[in-house]
Amino acid sequence: LVNVDSILRSVIQTLHPLAAARHVNLRLEGMEEDSEVLGDQDQLTQVFTNLVENAIKYGPENGEVSICITAHSNEPTLRGPAVRIDIADQGEGIAAHHIPRLTERFYRVDSHRSREMGGTGLGLAIVKHILNRHRGRLRIESHAGNGSCFSVILPYN
Ligand code: ATP
Ligand code: MG
Repeated sequence: LVNVDSILRSVIQTLHPLAAARHVNLRLEGMEEDSEVLGDQDQLTQVFTNLVENAIKYGPENGEVSICITAHSNEPTLRGPAVRIDIADQGEGIAAHHIPRLTERFYRVDSHRSREMGGTGLGLAIVKHILNRHRGRLRIESHAGNGSCFSVILPYN
């Protein structure tokens, strides 16, 4: 049993230097006591590290990344109570035709930002793999020019 809340706090600490370098404000919202899920602490830490790192890298300098927990989310896709974590940035967004392919290994949107930022294109493939093992889901909502929101949905405890 792991506490999503405390995982997110530690991820924010770990990524603080990267956020500070880009003058990005990390905002954590919706903290609740009972955001516990059945899962592996290190693997879930990896999931949120990859997603928040992307939000910082692909969002604008001086921007804001919001991380919002909803503890008793009713998610039809999971058929039962769930914890949902939304990670939203103010970046250039992702065109619709790229979205289904983002979790493929080595897939990168060929924007100049992806190229200049470095990385291998494995982050989201790892996220998907770990979430599958937790019976979780990744939902991606984005509109080119309008920021992105990556939602992690995990079965509640
Ligand atoms: P790595 O995570 O291995 O360092 P990466 O960030 O390029 O490299 P992924 O995390 O798998 O790889 O992301 C794949 C691609 O999806 C990125 O290259 C980028 O084009 C796009 N992407 C991911 N997150 C965002 C985001 N928040 N906003 C815009 N584009 C994104
Ligand atoms: Mg990445």
